[in-house]
Amino acid sequence: MLDQTARMGRRGLLQTSLAAALAGCATKPDSSFEPALAPIRARTDRIFDIAVCLRPFRPAGPRVETERLGDTLVVHNYGHGGSGWSLSWGSSARAVRLAMQASPAEVAVIGCGALGLTSAILAQRAGARVTIHAREQLPETTSARATGEWTPDSRIALVNAAAPGFGTVWEEMARTSFKRHRDYLGLPGTPVEWIDQYSVSGGSSSSSRSEDSSTTSATPAPVFASYARSIRDLTPRWSPVPADATPFKATAVGRSEIMVFNIADYGHTLLNDFFIAGGQFRRADFRAPAQIAALRQKVVINCTGYGARALWRDETLVPVRGQIARLIPQPEVRYGLVYRGVLTVPRRDGLVVQSFAGGERQGYDDTNEAPDRAEAEQAVRTIAEVFRAGA
Ligand SMILES: Cc1cc2nc3c(=O)[nH]c(=O)nc-3n(C[C@H](O)[C@H](O)[C@H](O)COP(=O)(O)OP(=O)(O)OC[C@H]3O[C@@H](n4cnc5c(N)ncnc54)[C@H](O)[C@@H]3O)c2cc1C
Repeated sequence: MLDQTARMGRRGLLQTSLAAALAGCATKPDSSFEPALAPIRARTDRIFDIAVCLRPFRPAGPRVETERLGDTLVVHNYGHGGSGWSLSWGSSARAVRLAMQASPAEVAVIGCGALGLTSAILAQRAGARVTIHAREQLPETTSARATGEWTPDSRIALVNAAAPGFGTVWEEMARTSFKRHRDYLGLPGTPVEWIDQYSVSGGSSSSSRSEDSSTTSATPAPVFASYARSIRDLTPRWSPVPADATPFKATAVGRSEIMVFNIADYGHTLLNDFFIAGGQFRRADFRAPAQIAALRQKVVINCTGYGARALWRDETLVPVRGQIARLIPQPEVRYGLVYRGVLTVPRRDGLVVQSFAGGERQGYDDTNEAPDRAEAEQAVRTIAEVFRAGA
């Protein structure tokens, strides 16, 4: 899960070589001082968590629009694929604008993931009293199982199915979100931070795995839309760095910087902000829209993520399975890695290791939520290979 420049690097790594990817992103090697990089203790016995979740993907892009249920105004805000955290503030700002057109004193938000919480907080800031109704609170949701990177166009729409004008809407959402995430930098607990991220190519010969293990099939593969170019000004580009200044066995190394969401703390901060502003939480499991129409609040923002498929019978929602493993955090490791189809992110609540060897279509239309320990261990072993002996 990489931002636009990093994802360019990831796709480059999958499809060509790091050298080729860097050729498109930087002109000359970055000769600035390389910090000493502590090696990752990449051992399978240090995996303390494996989490799987389904990205709520809609080929047309997220659904942010109104619907009337009798005297209730419902504003939908779901279907953000692999970009829900990244786009949360921008998408929720659009949803709250639609909701507040009715000048409600009270608003109900259905769902307590990234989209529900940001909608609730923005509705409070717009002057409404807000109650969140949800089956799960943030730590139990899909949002809590995300990688935690700024990836605003990861699995957000399909090239041939994106709604007309979606690229422009997406850009507005991405820019609004980027600004709001910045407000959470530098806070106690580090909900949001910038880190260095390295792309490493070559070096080890012990793994004979292909870098793109996606298989050929009779069904045409989905082609995801990419909008990153329009916000290139927001994030740094990749630069080559001398491989021998790093602890990596590598023929080429690139470095960029990426915004990371420390999900445990970000979620906690958002929940606190919501409750401090007088927010209420009610546990509820809705089986039909009629139950939502029966709520006291007559303006409702629907942030049910993949749950919208069953609740609103939105068959256009496609599950895209994803898995992350977490290694025990190493406070001295403050950089991320992209190497042979594996990504690491040094989150404060665990060093995330994620395999993306199948590219963005990995897990497409797969509802299997069972953790795959073998996949997690393989990813950790791949990372172990990248460090030079004695590094
Ligand atoms: C492996 C993986 C990695 C990811 N990495 C990133 C990343 O790095 N960056 C990024 O931006 N995005 C990432 N994503 C995507 C991101 O996690 C999702 O887009 C986001 O979590 C969706 O948030 P949400 O609030 O819409 O849904 P959810 O988090 O699923 O929340 C839905 C809420 O609605 C409630 N609900 C649902 N149905 C009902 C019902 N019938 N009645 C009552 N309540 C209901 C749930 O209980 C929950 O509270 C990743 C996803 C995966 C799977």
